[in-house]
Amino acid sequence: MMPTPDADLRPEDKTIEAANGRIYHYGWTRFVDEVCTGGHCFICGRTYDASAFNDEHVVPDWLLTRFRLHNSRLTLPNGTQRPYGQHKIPCCIDCNSLLGREIEQHIAMITGGDYSAFAAAIAWEYQFLPEQWLALVFLKLHLMDGRLRRTRDRRLKDDATISEGRIWEHFHHLHALVRSIHTGATVGPRVLGTLITFPIEDPAGEKHFDLLTFTEDFTLYVRVGQIGMIHVIDDGGGVAEIMRDLRVRIGDGPFSPAQARELAARTAYGNRILLGRPSFFTQVSGDRSTIIIRSAHSGIIDHPFPQYDLRPGSQEELRELLVTALPQLGCVKGNPTTFPQLVGDQEAIGRAP
Ligand SMILES: [Zn+2]
Repeated sequence: MMPTPDADLRPEDKTIEAANGRIYHYGWTRFVDEVCTGGHCFICGRTYDASAFNDEHVVPDWLLTRFRLHNSRLTLPNGTQRPYGQHKIPCCIDCNSLLGREIEQHIAMITGGDYSAFAAAIAWEYQFLPEQWLALVFLKLHLMDGRLRRTRDRRLKDDATISEGRIWEHFHHLHALVRSIHTGATVGPRVLGTLITFPIEDPAGEKHFDLLTFTEDFTLYVRVGQIGMIHVIDDGGGVAEIMRDLRVRIGDGPFSPAQARELAARTAYGNRILLGRPSFFTQVSGDRSTIIIRSAHSGIIDHPFPQYDLRPGSQEELRELLVTALPQLGCVKGNPTTFPQLVGDQEAIGRAP
């Protein structure tokens, strides 16, 4: 059945595909079978048989080269480690080139200087580029979990992947967002989530790259030199609203590398307890000429500024995230902090008492 114009396509709906195989919109089943757990190109969906592949570094090659990370190891969710240089996701040459041209070369350029140059770039010409890039990195990191076995010892006869049991629904939206550079989809208002950027102290002799993922909380932190970026992918901007007080209290930085990790953990926690987050969906016109990724919030004309709220905080959950980010704080009682402004404050995300 052909979709009606502006049909509201939910994850369970079918894939919309052109006669030449170009996929405008992934249905739920094909997304899981081909993109999450299959070996198809994670952008266009073509197979090795149909197209030449050269695969895409999960942490991009320019970053690995800049900080000499090819042989450094990334810790996977099952605790095993893998060299960054070998951590590659199936991707065809065409899509790899597209990602390089449209995203990677620009983010490499604007992170090549100091923080103030980066801030100026994203305020003007490269607005939304960090969100686009961080969403891409987050997607790649997690899609890889569907391709790697959770146990390497084949004698155990365990074929399950690292992502076994994961609910991929959130990733369906993220995937549509990331591949909008391939489909030409328009990204509507309040679809991109919260972005927090800040300068990081840069003492000599220190490592200049850091990466921290909070899978359940859809939050990613990346440090590139003296630039820190935290992105909450699925909050429609709600976490930025609820963390306003905290941000005022801790100031604009520069932060220490540990403070940057703590802020990432508190941001992930903000997303965990956020109430009123939007749902997201994709609309495709009947003639397939228009694809729009929307937030349910953007359609509420009477309430253009959604009201976010928080569920009651849990000190234990916050502490768990803080210690995940900063294991060295595990011996400190209560909610440990590296920010002098927050010492003794048990308020979950640091709102003013
Ligand atoms: Zn492709």
